[in-house]
Amino acid sequence: MTHPIAQRTTSEWQQLDAAHHIHPFSDMGALNRLGSRVITRAQGVYLWDSDGNKIIDGMAGLWCVNVGYGRQELADAAYRQMLELPYYNTFFKTTHPPIIELSKLLSEIAPPGFEHFFYCNSGSEGNDTTLRVVYQYWAAMGKPGKKYVISRKNGYHGSTMAGATLGGMDYMHEQMPSKVEHIVHINQPYWFGEGGTLTPEAFGRQCAAELEQKILELGADNVAAFIGEPFQGAGGVIFPPESYWPEIQRICRQYDVLLCADEVIGGFGRTGEWFAHQHFGFEPDTMTLAKGLTSGYIPMGAVAIHKRIAQPLIDCGDFNHGLTYSGHPVAAAVAMANLRILRDGGVVAQVKTDTGPYFQQSLRQALADNPLVGEIAGQGLVAGMQLTADKASRKRFANGGEIGLKCRDYCFKNNLIMRATGDRMLLSPPLVMTRSEIDELVDKAKHCLALTAKDLGMM
Ligand SMILES: *Cc1c(COP(=O)(O)O)cnc(C)c1O
Repeated sequence: MTHPIAQRTTSEWQQLDAAHHIHPFSDMGALNRLGSRVITRAQGVYLWDSDGNKIIDGMAGLWCVNVGYGRQELADAAYRQMLELPYYNTFFKTTHPPIIELSKLLSEIAPPGFEHFFYCNSGSEGNDTTLRVVYQYWAAMGKPGKKYVISRKNGYHGSTMAGATLGGMDYMHEQMPSKVEHIVHINQPYWFGEGGTLTPEAFGRQCAAELEQKILELGADNVAAFIGEPFQGAGGVIFPPESYWPEIQRICRQYDVLLCADEVIGGFGRTGEWFAHQHFGFEPDTMTLAKGLTSGYIPMGAVAIHKRIAQPLIDCGDFNHGLTYSGHPVAAAVAMANLRILRDGGVVAQVKTDTGPYFQQSLRQALADNPLVGEIAGQGLVAGMQLTADKASRKRFANGGEIGLKCRDYCFKNNLIMRATGDRMLLSPPLVMTRSEIDELVDKAKHCLALTAKDLGMM
């Protein structure tokens, strides 16, 4: 087979990239002057760039390559499906075997009650779809006045207009003169940064109480849903206090407000549970899925709809929503192969019982004597490390974002992918990472955080 992609030198690629390609979430002027890193191939938990550097991927791409790179099973599934039926739509009284089988498999993997799935191509589209499902449900229930959706500051729900409005990222809102209507935000349950003198437990209850206040302010008859990530991913791997989610659930049930979990990062084994809400012990009405659904090998998103929501939706006539690629057969075939590895290959179980606890423990041991690291949040194979000027008083740096980027530059030089979100460093490696690869990841993270602390005169 001939490769359709030309082989070029790094500088040729960089020049062409600068000439024709606008990157997501980037300052293109600055990036074009610097030149992008060109990733040319990957295997397991490692990436290679066009200069031949071997890089350990501590972020599983963008939180998505759960089964690791180079899996023959996924490539074969796509190849076979492309020859057999590369595309057909699921609009006009039509369906196909891959999407039927995937829906059956998802209903086995998802918690009891999640038996129905609507498909799209990304997490952003999944959250747009969630809104459509929520509104259609309340219309079916004879309560069309319930139209407000409450989400959190510093939450991330994607970058379509609805996704970005739902998200609580100010820097995104600033570039959106119009937003989707009827979306309001409450504070995030970020104890380290915003908990003041409260205990985590009391702070968790206080943040949940904000939901109740907001519902009362808007009127419960006007509130359709609350949406949140079980733990905030892009916002900095922020794990809410244990008191938070049970209270949120109680409030949603009390005021007849749907509880929507954005499981785009948390889903498919990240915390060692299949879905992150299972770790936090609550029961959502809908789940937004993407990323780990196909391990990023091909785009696919979905909304899982609990049967108590799905049945009224099914019984109320036309649902006027859909995408050309809803239930794409090739994506469905890849998702099947991916989920089989995660389930039948024992990957999720291994994260729960072995590599997850090992990673959490190793990271805490390795960073215990670095005064720059104020807290490590995480479970399974995801962690957020808070940079702090003083651990005891939880003092944050005025220029925390710059320090995060400085640390990330050290990671870059040391062939480690670790993400910086403001003053938090994030890790979320492929779920197939072995103990010895975890040792390498943790060693490199320790080294880069120590270099950063030394620059600040803290070590
Ligand atoms: C990545 C992400 C999204 C958006 O998914 P896209 O596929 O980038 O559209 C939505 N929600 C959460 C929690 C995410 O992490």
